[in-house]
Amino acid sequence: MRNYRSIEKVFRGPEPHMVGDGFRVSQYLPAGTNGMQRLSPFILLDYHAPYYYEPSEVVRGVGAHPHRGFETVTIAYEGRIEHHDNKGNHGIIGTGDVQWMTAASGILHKEYHEKEFSKSGGVLHMIQLWVNLPKEKKRIEPKYQALLKEDMGKIKLDDHQGEISIIAGEVNGVKGPASTFTKMNIYNVSLSSEGKVTLKEPSHFNTGILVLKGEVKINEDRVVKEGDFILFDNVPGEIFVESVAKDNLFVVLSGEPIDEPVASYGPFVMNTTDEIYEAYEDFRNNKFGTEEF
Ligand code: MN
Repeated sequence: MRNYRSIEKVFRGPEPHMVGDGFRVSQYLPAGTNGMQRLSPFILLDYHAPYYYEPSEVVRGVGAHPHRGFETVTIAYEGRIEHHDNKGNHGIIGTGDVQWMTAASGILHKEYHEKEFSKSGGVLHMIQLWVNLPKEKKRIEPKYQALLKEDMGKIKLDDHQGEISIIAGEVNGVKGPASTFTKMNIYNVSLSSEGKVTLKEPSHFNTGILVLKGEVKINEDRVVKEGDFILFDNVPGEIFVESVAKDNLFVVLSGEPIDEPVASYGPFVMNTTDEIYEAYEDFRNNKFGTEEF
C-alpha cells in the first residue's frame, strides 16, 4: 500500500460574477478555505472557467485600480489578456503564458482583453491568483515578470502520458522561470487518456489542485472533475493522479505558509488593520500615482 497524502476536502467555487465587463470569475479562495491562511501563500483565487465572449468594439476588462502588499499571478489557458501598469509595464499573454505582477509597495494597473481578441470575440479561460508577500517584502518596489509558454520548465511523461509545465519552483529537479519571495511550486499538468503521475510535495507546504479540464482520480480513490478544487492535508505522502477522461488538465499550487497576521480589504493585503487604512489613505492622496497611464 502506498502512502498517500490525504484529502482534507474537495470544493467548488460559487456562481461566477463579473469583474469589470471582461472577467466572469468564481472566487474559489479565500471562501473555499474559510480564510486566507489555510492555503497561504495563496490567498485568493479567481477562476475564469472557459466562457465565450461576443465580439466587442469596446475593449472588455477592468480599468485602473490599486494593489498593495502581495502579487497577482495571471495564468492564461485560452484567449488573450493585456496588462498595463503605472510603472511602465505592459504585456500581452495567451495560452500557456503567465504574468506575474509584484504589487508590493503599491501599483495601479489595468487588466483587459487584448484588443484584437476583444474585437473578434472568443473563449477566455484563465486564473488569477494572489500570492501573499512576507512582511519584509510588502514595501519593496513593484516588479513585473512576463513568463511565456516556451520559458516554462518542461517534463514530458513517458509514453505520451502527458506533460508538466512548471511556472514557479521545481518538480523533479526541473525549475520554473518565476522568481518568488517565498518557496512555492506552481505547475500545470496535462494527462492523456492513459496518463498517470505521482506528485511529491513537502508535507509542510500547503497544497491544492484545481481541475481545469476533464476528470481524474486522486490516490486511487477519489474521482474529481473540471471545476473541483482539492485541498490536501498537511501530512506526508505522495499524491497520485490518474486520468479518467480522454484529455485532462490541472494546476498544482503548493507553497510554504507565511506564518504572519493577515489583514485584507479590497485590493490590499497587509498585516494590520492600520496598514489597510494607510493604504486607502495613500490611494486617496494619489501616492500610488495618477490614473493617467
Ligand atoms: Mn488587479
